[in-house]
Amino acid sequence: MNIILSEKIKENIRDIQDFPKRGILFKDITPIFELPDLCTEILEGFIEALSNSKIDAVACIESRGFFFGMLLAQKLRVPFIPIRKKGKLPYKTLSLDYELEYGTETMEMHVDAIKPGQNVLIHDDVLATGGTALAASQLIMKAGGNIAGYAFLLSVGFLEGDKKLQFISQNIITLAEY
Ligand code: AMP
Repeated sequence: MNIILSEKIKENIRDIQDFPKRGILFKDITPIFELPDLCTEILEGFIEALSNSKIDAVACIESRGFFFGMLLAQKLRVPFIPIRKKGKLPYKTLSLDYELEYGTETMEMHVDAIKPGQNVLIHDDVLATGGTALAASQLIMKAGGNIAGYAFLLSVGFLEGDKKLQFISQNIITLAEY
């Protein structure tokens, strides 16, 4: 991990207590977007960490995964694939139900977004329990894709989300860890 970059990211994350519900310390990444030079460094940090990975597409999780996800896909010169909440994508979709702390959620991806055998990187802003990234992996594998790895801006270490993902890919990149 690049400690200098990690510290710069942390300095520009705003902690919001009890959002969106009581007991959650929400990591607000929007202050980072006000700093174009830091955004460039973050993008370069991802690219450097992924330099040995074979990536054919970047799948990004709605909605905060879209911000750096599109930049990352463009920089890697590979397709950007949006994974969205149920009912948001206009064309035919593949969907996957997954468990959240309270109840279930459904995520969707366009049915033709992935070509079988493609190596897909999954990107999101935060890795917490790992449930969301795990569900995204299952959706991509359902479409015939391979998981090339994971790239997160930050992870919440004590929740051990990486343990849920390691059996799929050990290529788990996080630029800052709490
Ligand atoms: P999880 O499935 O528990 O790993 O949660 C990851 C998803 O929830 C990501 O899409 C994050 O954007 C969001 N998330 C979870 N915990 C937080 C947090 N403390 N602050 C900001 N976003 C979070």
